[in-house]
Amino acid sequence: MVSPGEREPPAGSAGNLAALSELDEASLLRGLRERFLRQQVYTDVGDILIALNPFQPLQLYGREVSEQYRCHDEGSLPPHIFAVADRAYHAMLGRRGARPQSQCIVISGESGAGKTESTKLLLQHIMNLCKGNSQLEQQILQVNPLLEAFGNAQTVMNDNSSRFGKYIQLRFQNNTVRGAKLSEYLLEKSRVVQQDTGERNFHIFYYMFAGLSSEEKEMYGLLDPSLYRYISGRFGTEDVAQRWKQKYQEVCNALDMVGFQEQEQVDMQAILAGVLSLGNVTFEPPESNASLKMSEASRGWLKAAAGQFGVQEEELLKCLICTMSVTRGEQIQRFHTQQQAEDARDSIAKVAYGRVFGWIVSKINELLAENVDPEVELREIGILDIFGFENFAVNRFEQLCINLANEQLQHFFNHHIFQLEQAAYREEELPWETITFNNNEPILNLLLAKPLGLLSLLDEQSAFPQATDKTFVDKLNSSFKGNLHFQPARGRVLGFSIIHYAGKVQYTAGGFLEKNRDTLPANVRGLFINSVTPLLSVLFTATISRTGTLMPHVKAKIIPEADNKFNSTRKQSAGAQFRHSLMVLMERMYSANPHFVRCIKPNSQKEPGVVDNQMLLQQLRYNGLLETIRIRRDGFSWRPSFEEFAERYGILLVKPDVSLTKESCLEILQSTDLTGWICGKSRLFFKYWHQEQLAKYVERLERAA
Ligand code: ADP
Ligand code: MG
Repeated sequence: MVSPGEREPPAGSAGNLAALSELDEASLLRGLRERFLRQQVYTDVGDILIALNPFQPLQLYGREVSEQYRCHDEGSLPPHIFAVADRAYHAMLGRRGARPQSQCIVISGESGAGKTESTKLLLQHIMNLCKGNSQLEQQILQVNPLLEAFGNAQTVMNDNSSRFGKYIQLRFQNNTVRGAKLSEYLLEKSRVVQQDTGERNFHIFYYMFAGLSSEEKEMYGLLDPSLYRYISGRFGTEDVAQRWKQKYQEVCNALDMVGFQEQEQVDMQAILAGVLSLGNVTFEPPESNASLKMSEASRGWLKAAAGQFGVQEEELLKCLICTMSVTRGEQIQRFHTQQQAEDARDSIAKVAYGRVFGWIVSKINELLAENVDPEVELREIGILDIFGFENFAVNRFEQLCINLANEQLQHFFNHHIFQLEQAAYREEELPWETITFNNNEPILNLLLAKPLGLLSLLDEQSAFPQATDKTFVDKLNSSFKGNLHFQPARGRVLGFSIIHYAGKVQYTAGGFLEKNRDTLPANVRGLFINSVTPLLSVLFTATISRTGTLMPHVKAKIIPEADNKFNSTRKQSAGAQFRHSLMVLMERMYSANPHFVRCIKPNSQKEPGVVDNQMLLQQLRYNGLLETIRIRRDGFSWRPSFEEFAERYGILLVKPDVSLTKESCLEILQSTDLTGWICGKSRLFFKYWHQEQLAKYVERLERAA
């Protein structure tokens, strides 16, 4: 049965592009563009929020605005990121016709599109909504500068680019936040040792140089920043330095707030300073069969690094220039080539930095850990801020992982927007022309299938000592021959291409095996465990759990090097770890009610008021937004069962004990002037705006009572 036909949403839904009567790329583009030029950066597409980055501060986020959106009537105010926060919060509590349930907010978009800023705004509004344990709420907001200092960097795409992905789980009991948990994904550790032109290392290094006093710099053995190989980018003008100095202060405050001890903070900076000094150690090829040569200057840097790391200079050198292994009780020493020695140096720097970051995250999690009432159910709002799809001039193992994550997210999106909805129509035997969408399952299979997906093949090759990046590529070429989503590289290039949902990406295979094996240079763990810098010792005694979180042991245990079995035990590959943490994440997300925010970058010059049509269009296509609009306009996003509906809205009949049947539902609906809904076999089908309308009836009734 179909109610009197109505195709257009009612007035009051301005800013919702699902209301467009003619729907094609051109009208969508025009709609977004016109709104953007009027500084209306937010646009709804059904219940999905599109956010265009304004690249200028807008008067949109003040306390008053947050107050306005606080518990506002759906659709009564223009689209806004605060409205998404509001919706998720009330849905979690089971208000406005929903069943109480955990929620997740998925923010996507390319680098510089505004994901991280959106995350901060969502947190800000949600904290404003719950107003309970205010210390915890403040802390949740205050840990951010710390994360950004250690995890963000200037890139060509974004001056404050997050170089890790994060999922923040806010945990609630009733309407009060009780705790929060942060999961981090794939910190880009390679940035510590190398940055492309126009890019910088992680912010914290620059903040340290600007913020430390000269005595402190001396203590950490820090000289002029321009001397360090690991630090690129000019140090710039006085006002930049001033800003960094201020940031440094913020970081120190945040460290205090999170509860880092004085000694831990000193150790942490010593480790970072040690990393920089280590980076300046270079080698020269040996003259004959002897070991590698080192210049006087490199000697000096080695000494400085060892001093900051609290280890013996000679021990540190050994880790760089040779590999020790034990075979049948006999110690065997193998000397490194110059390249191997410099690789070992870079791996040590990366692993040390990575552990510091992991440790900060685990400390933050300790601080924010929930304090719960065991009697009350815990519900969550998760916010996912993870790197968008990447396609650079050179794409490496890291890009493959990032793009895999994006394939997963796209699949999650498709699942909710298209598959669930279409399955519901079929089940209820409703006529429905199937909307075609770009199903990316074959690509996920290509990457994840066991035992013949790309990651499995990579693991298989990584386990062979003789395998090389070349044998890996050969393996891919033979396994994926004829696969529509795979293309071998042309000519002699060592690489391959994958046709992702968002386009073709060429990957360079060099370094894949090495990165996937992710082995700590031999003996490094033993070296650091015995460090007299307590923090370093803790960081290397700690084990990394499968989800990537660090679990430091309570007290550092000193393990004699000979007993150290770490290097002989096979650990999980980087690819397998990432696959696992993605799986955990997706499980959490599939069990929650999702909200989507699609961030869009209007131009690549980061200019306010400028829209590059081509860029906009490309992002709309990547995002599948056109199909989304169509399904949201023609489709029925809210599909309660008869029981659910009658139970919730029975009060509209103003009579006792309404039976939970189809007949009651129809009676309820006929008492309103709602139009455009459909009645199926076991459930009702509503447009996204019907819920708002029903809420108004309930409100009116409650006001009258
Ligand atoms: P992403 O996380 O998607 O890479 P960011 O959230 O870091 O992108 O945003 C990049 C930059 O764009 C920010 O540093 C800020 O200058 C600007 N920006 C993003 N969102 C907004 C906003 N809502 N208002 C003003 N400026 C913004
Ligand atoms: Mg970001």
